[in-house]
Amino acid sequence: TDGLMKAEKDKIVSLHYTLTDDGGVTLDSSRGREPLSYLHGHGNIIRGLEAALEGNEAGFSSSVQVVPADGYGEYNPQAVFEVPREQFPPNETIQVGMQVQGESPDGVLNFTVLAVNEKGVVLDANHPMAGKNLNFEVEVLDVRDATAQELSHGHVHPHGHDH
Ligand code: ZN
Repeated sequence: TDGLMKAEKDKIVSLHYTLTDDGGVTLDSSRGREPLSYLHGHGNIIRGLEAALEGNEAGFSSSVQVVPADGYGEYNPQAVFEVPREQFPPNETIQVGMQVQGESPDGVLNFTVLAVNEKGVVLDANHPMAGKNLNFEVEVLDVRDATAQELSHGHVHPHGHDH
């Protein structure tokens, strides 16, 4: 062993990632900004990516394909519904493709506008990435022990930031 820490439960892992869809379009990337840091083994990143990083150390780089079941879930056609136009402020422009928010007892929900007609607005409660493969290019930059406080909070404190 070379003494490098491996990504495993209760470690803080820092990585760069680029996420593309099956068409090769880049959807998100940490390149050019701060690396992503997270507390491993606590479900803080999508399951399929966490599983692929398990046991790896700084310097590891790989292509990882995460199927929908291990990513943002399968697309659920039942999560599409129409609400009356009056539920939106009359002066608010509602356009196909935009994201809108709604309140629920469980907190704020995000919807995508699928269609707008005279009577109503068709909303989709699926995550925008539901039903899609997630293709990651990842590079692990660092693995360290979590602090006691990070462990008790269940998340990373970037730069030792306390709260
Ligand atoms: Zn905290």
